Amino acid sequence: MRKESAKAKARREAAIAAVFTEAGIQTKDNSWRVEYQLDTPVGKLVVVPHEDWIHCKFEDPVAAKEVIGSVSPAGKWNHYPGTQQRRLTAADVEAVLELLKRYRLWPMPKQAPSVDQDRPPNFRDGKQLFLVRCFACEPQYGRENVACAVAAGECASCGWREGE
Ligand SMILES: [Zn+2]
Repeated sequence: MRKESAKAKARREAAIAAVFTEAGIQTKDNSWRVEYQLDTPVGKLVVVPHEDWIHCKFEDPVAAKEVIGSVSPAGKWNHYPGTQQRRLTAADVEAVLELLKRYRLWPMPKQAPSVDQDRPPNFRDGKQLFLVRCFACEPQYGRENVACAVAAGECASCGWREGE
């Protein structure tokens, strides 16, 4: 890889750090490397951006693997977007956060899993919950769910799903 000037390196690293800061992700106090910690429903995820790859490690590999099949037995979920010619950019980090979003691992779901959705007008067909109004969104009266999400038992507003 071509040598990167100190100025370019600082600019690139600041852009990457800004992605985490803007996402509200804390830096873990660590003297020898910049390390970020994300709380996820399957435990903590440590993210360390390197020059051309992103180290990602889940604290609970078993739980993480259930959601993301490609997590290693040690909890590693590394990303290698860089090449011999290309260093890591802010967009590479954003892509990882986007993936976590798709897996519903981040941002950490806010609603308590214990919310009681088993009340009218919600109903069940067998075990399947039809979520007409979401009581996670609005505890007293429930917030009206969009029709296409009712049968899925999923709240279109807050993403509440049974068993999560
Ligand atoms: Zn909701």
